[in-house]
Amino acid sequence: MQISGWMNYHTHIDKGFLPENQKYKDAEAPVRAAWTRDIKMMRSKAEIKQAAAQSLEKMYQYGTSYVRTNVDVDPLFELRGLEALLELKEEWKEKIVIDIVAFNQEGFDRFPETEVLLKEAIKLGVDGIGGHTSMDEDGEAHIDKIMDLAEKASVDWIEFHTDETGRIDDFHLPYLAKVTKERELGEKMTAIHCCSLANVKDDLASKTIEAVAQSGMSVTTCPTAIATRSLTRIKELSSAGVPIQVGSDNLRDFFNPLGSGNMLQYGQLLAYVQRFYEPAEVENILEWLQKAPSNSRVQSELKKLKHTFLYKIDAERELLAEAPAPIKKAAVTL
Ligand SMILES: [Zn+2]
Repeated sequence: MQISGWMNYHTHIDKGFLPENQKYKDAEAPVRAAWTRDIKMMRSKAEIKQAAAQSLEKMYQYGTSYVRTNVDVDPLFELRGLEALLELKEEWKEKIVIDIVAFNQEGFDRFPETEVLLKEAIKLGVDGIGGHTSMDEDGEAHIDKIMDLAEKASVDWIEFHTDETGRIDDFHLPYLAKVTKERELGEKMTAIHCCSLANVKDDLASKTIEAVAQSGMSVTTCPTAIATRSLTRIKELSSAGVPIQVGSDNLRDFFNPLGSGNMLQYGQLLAYVQRFYEPAEVENILEWLQKAPSNSRVQSELKKLKHTFLYKIDAERELLAEAPAPIKKAAVTL
């Protein structure tokens, strides 16, 4: 079987592959976040670039052709991560289409200078702007501010790590759906994680899913998040017509010390956790893993890739059962 490549809709290649002297240790999430901030301050552009390339190598080895990565932009990382990733985007353009989303990981409350840096990032050239609804005291104000910046810059993607805590008192998805609809940002908007949706009462969840569907936004799930919280209600979102995207999320850092970059493995994990076992459900996951953004820029960049990936399997569902690596890359005949 031949495929043109898997789509990894969410990752943080700027923070992956910790240096050799930084071993993963289990601790509460805020402690691990503090360690991550320490590393962010220390890492040079060259070190970020080298580590990010390791992630890309893994993803490519497993047949990935599109990667949408966040890059932290804040006073700790400044613009070093973005500069490193912009160089990689160019160097890798024949192998992987890389979309870069400038991400406010740390929030405006703690680091108000981030707003100026995000504007600088837009000038350097990014494909999207991202926020994190749980990082500031006022999540709705955070959403508004990121949306204002993104709309002014007319970037292709606006993304929010939404309700990542899973707490029912940290539930911003209804507001995000409402403003996405009001501002008609549907195709550009992605809500990532949406863990709290899994834990709110069923009637509130149904109402919210309906609003998400009407807003036209997509939802990205990162199945490795199951290590610390519930995954969102993927089957219900999909049944309501919400486009579903899958991401690897972090690779080999203080949030996930594992991570292969193999999209089939992440798809398989989703299948286990939410019982995508019926043939049509297995097919659903394989479709999501292959569905490229309809954005015309991305489409034309994907057409310029020089290869497809070959798998030796008897039936398509074996891809999800076994999560194999491709047996080889075949040149595309243009
Ligand atoms: Zn993330």
